[in-house]
Amino acid sequence: MILTQTLRHRVEYIKIKNYLCFLLFFILCLLFIPSASFSEIFKRNTILMGTDIELIAYEENREIVNSAFDAAIKEIERIENEMSEWREGTPVSNINKNAGKEAVVVPEELFKVISAARKVSELSSGAFDISWACMRSLWKFGKGEERVPFDGEIKQRLSLVNYKNIELNEKNKTVFLRKEGMSIGLGAIAKGYAVDMAMQAMVNLGVKNAIVKAGGDMRVQGAKDGKPWDIGIKHPRDKKKLLGKLNLSNISISTSGDYERYFIKDGVLYHHIMNPKTGYPATGCQSVTILAPDTMTSDALSTAVFVLGPEEGMKLIKSLHGIEGIIVDSNGQVHYSPGVERRVDN
Ligand code: ADP
Ligand code: MG
Repeated sequence: MILTQTLRHRVEYIKIKNYLCFLLFFILCLLFIPSASFSEIFKRNTILMGTDIELIAYEENREIVNSAFDAAIKEIERIENEMSEWREGTPVSNINKNAGKEAVVVPEELFKVISAARKVSELSSGAFDISWACMRSLWKFGKGEERVPFDGEIKQRLSLVNYKNIELNEKNKTVFLRKEGMSIGLGAIAKGYAVDMAMQAMVNLGVKNAIVKAGGDMRVQGAKDGKPWDIGIKHPRDKKKLLGKLNLSNISISTSGDYERYFIKDGVLYHHIMNPKTGYPATGCQSVTILAPDTMTSDALSTAVFVLGPEEGMKLIKSLHGIEGIIVDSNGQVHYSPGVERRVDN
C-alpha cells in the first residue's frame, strides 16, 4: 500500500517535472525564436525623378517596413518638388528664371546640394558642371525626337556654361546665375541626395537592413542574414552579363553609363553625359562606378569621372579619401582603383 502510494507520488512528480520542462522550453522559444529567424525580404518599386526607384528591406516587422517605405517615397517626392528643373515653380526653376537678373533665396538643403556640386566642379576642373543645362534644349534623347544640335548652336551656348558664374551666398542662402540665359540642372547629383534622404527616413523608423536604389544610384545599409549585401555591377555592353559583384554594407554606389539615355545616329552613339568644355557627349568611358560614404557624392563623382575619362578620372579617384571606382573605358577595358580590385567577385 505504502509502496504504491510512493510510486504514484513519483509518477506525479515526474509528470510535473516534464510539464515544467516543457513550459520552460516553450518560454525560451517565445523569447528567442522571433528575433533569430523571422526576417524576410520586402520590396517596393515606383517611378520618381524620371527613374526607377526600388526599395528593399530585410526585416521582421511588415508594418514598420511599410511605413518606412511610405516615408522614403514621400522624401523622394519632396526632393523632386524642390530640385527638379523641369517642373514650373520649383526653387531650381526659379533660380533659372532669374538668371542674369537677381539672386534667389533657396531652401537650406538645396543650397547644400548646389554647394556640393560646386565642390565636385572644382575637384574635376569643371568636368562636372551643373550649368551644362543651358545645352539641354538643344539635345533631344526622347524616342522619335532624337536631335543632334548644329555646331553653331553649341558654340553659341558654350559661353554660358561655367560653374564659376554660379554665385553662392552662404549667409543669405542665395543663388545667382550671373549671365542671362544660364541654367542649372541637378540631374547628376539630386538623385543621389534623394537616395540618402530616403534611406535616412527609413532608418529613423527603425529599419536597419535595406537598399534604396534610384536608377544607377544606390545606398546599401546593414546586412542580409548577417552578411553584407551582394551587389551586381552592370556590364555596359551586355545587359545579361555583370561586370562583377561586390559585398557591400553601409556604403553608397553609383554608376554612370553611356547606355542609360542615348541614341545612335549615322553610326555615332550620342548619350546624356556631356562634356561641358565641348558641349558634346563625353568620350573616353562606357561606364563609371563609384563607391563613396554617401550617395550624393557617389552620384556626382560617377558623372565627373565619366567626363574626365579613364586616366584623369582614375587620378581623381585615387586622390580622394574614402572613394573607390571602376572605370570601363571606350575600348571595354576595365580599370579598378586599388581598394576595389580585391573586393570584386568576377
Ligand atoms: P543617370 O542620370 O543615368 O544616373 P548621371 O548621374 O551620370 O546618370 O547623370 C547624368 C545627368 O546629369 C544627365 O542626364 C544630365 O541631366 C546631367 N549632366 C550631364 N552632363 C553633366 C555634367 N558634365 N555635369 C553635371 N551634370 C551633367
Ligand atoms: Mg551622377
